[in-house]
Amino acid sequence: MPDIIQLLPDHVANQIAAGEVVQRPASVVKELLENAIDAEATQIKLLIKDAGKVLIQVIDNGKGMSQTDARLCFERHATSKIKKAEDLFNINTKGFRGEALASIAAIAHVTLKTRQESQELGTSIRVEGSEVKSQESISTPKGTSIAVKNLFYNIPARRNFLKSNTIETRHIVNEFQRVALVHPNISFSFYHNDNEIYNLVASNLRQRIVAILGKKTNEKLVPINESTDIVAIEGFITKPEFAKKKRGEQFFFVNNRFIKNTYLNHAVTSAFEGLLAQGYYPSYFLYLTVPTKSIDINIHPTKTEIKFDDEKTLYAILRSTIKHSLGQYNVAPALDFDRDASMDTPYEFKNKHISTPKVSVNPDFNPFNAQKTGPTYFQQKASNWESLYTGINVENIEVESEPVNSSMFTEEKSTHKTYQIQNKYIVSNIKSGVVYINQNLAHQRILYEEFLENSTVNEAASQQLLFPLTLVFSKDDVRIIEEIKSDLESIGFIFETISEEAVVVKGIPVNISESQITTIIEQLLDDIKNDVPDTSFSQLDIMAKSFAKSLAIKTGTKLDAKEQEEIVNKLFLCKEANYSPFGKKTFVIINIQEIDKQFNN
Ligand code: ADP
Ligand code: MG
Repeated sequence: MPDIIQLLPDHVANQIAAGEVVQRPASVVKELLENAIDAEATQIKLLIKDAGKVLIQVIDNGKGMSQTDARLCFERHATSKIKKAEDLFNINTKGFRGEALASIAAIAHVTLKTRQESQELGTSIRVEGSEVKSQESISTPKGTSIAVKNLFYNIPARRNFLKSNTIETRHIVNEFQRVALVHPNISFSFYHNDNEIYNLVASNLRQRIVAILGKKTNEKLVPINESTDIVAIEGFITKPEFAKKKRGEQFFFVNNRFIKNTYLNHAVTSAFEGLLAQGYYPSYFLYLTVPTKSIDINIHPTKTEIKFDDEKTLYAILRSTIKHSLGQYNVAPALDFDRDASMDTPYEFKNKHISTPKVSVNPDFNPFNAQKTGPTYFQQKASNWESLYTGINVENIEVESEPVNSSMFTEEKSTHKTYQIQNKYIVSNIKSGVVYINQNLAHQRILYEEFLENSTVNEAASQQLLFPLTLVFSKDDVRIIEEIKSDLESIGFIFETISEEAVVVKGIPVNISESQITTIIEQLLDDIKNDVPDTSFSQLDIMAKSFAKSLAIKTGTKLDAKEQEEIVNKLFLCKEANYSPFGKKTFVIINIQEIDKQFNN
């Protein structure tokens, strides 16, 4: 038998390594930003085109590279940051594996321009798929510029696997934020398709957090400061009353590196015990400094996971530090958990004269009106009833009467009753037994379909606001709103202006009240940010889901007979009445045989 083992050519090995290091444009952004920081830059500029699919460029004013280094940096295991194995246990730089540039250059068109301060001329190198295409001396500013074009151009499978621009941009924004949050003393700017997304001046940590997450973050922050032999903890948590329904803004940094760690996350949330309603999460920005010898950052190629020597002690210190701060800043436990935020008047509106909003477009619009959609539509809906009401001939149902023919619901009109139990379920008698409807989940389904339905009619029903509503957001949030503007408009929002950190709304969908706008848009932004990793749905779908969830009648709300009836009627007109938009059952049926069985024991 001949020998069959060969060493892989470098460019193949690099491509394989690239699979580990570069999952998506955001991975490139992370590596390039980190290199700029390791090069001691004080100003870093990030430029991307089309969510990084076309261009990712990072320009820094750091120490630059010599001509030889500029050539060498694209080799695998080429690093200036460690020299021997022991150095691995004392890492103070972001990079150390010497893999990033080699990997990136294997799967993209890369142009590097760099100059050290002491040099008259700098170096420009062009590499495509690991192959050096050109190298020349050029005049260029001090520092380094690396432009990465056409990522994955030679791996179509990876390129096709990339998500929508919105999603890839979100990943990039996340990476950018994580880096910018650890280096408030460095100026960062970020442009997407020539639009400025961030322009962060060198500042202190609090100012940096506020610059990234919006002005109104300032009042929410409680400082954390603790120093022990094992760990130093600095940063901020948000006051419990600003807790969010999604874990969006939770940042852990260890020795200036963003990490994910569920165990430490638990330490923080448990310190909030008793201060948060169920399902609410605090935001936090926590910076831990531990001796470099006590951690192992080498366990994950993208380095967001980290192993600590003594996690238990760390947990205890973290938890008590946060408890202490919460106590010290007198973050009162006198919170009203049952308060429904959606009932609050938005601050800007408290002192304004109240008037009835005018309905500007088609006041009679009702997406569930059988007439609008015609009998076919209704019959299609009506087929949902079949499974419920076996024995009824769907064909014979009178379509034209009321939106829902209530005679379908029970055998005789006179016995048609619904009950509410525990302010949670609506119970009704049906032919085959009893149906229990979860009011919250059922209403979610109804609203969800209403929003989707609205978005498909030519002109969604909209109510004009007498006073345009000014909503203040972070730049990043405003950018998301801009991206989904047309979706929002399709369901009835009308925007007057969208500026850097504020959105002025002058019309809202008819099924949303003015006082709910702030809450539901904030929730939507959270949902869009958090749904990113695994979503393949459209923005419209995320939006409809988010609004449905925010606006649905809550568990614990007492409903009068009419309201109960309306939920029941509307639910069974839905396309998918059986499940909430999130796939939970909206109702269960206990059939008469099952009840009988209980008595036959
Ligand atoms: P690592 O960061 O793990 O060392 P990289 O592949 O990211 O590996 O970079 C290789 C080397 O190229 C770095 O060690 C550094 O010496 C040099 N380098 C990369 N980017 C820059 C930059 N922006 N400025 C100066 N030197 C850089
Ligand atoms: Mg690096």
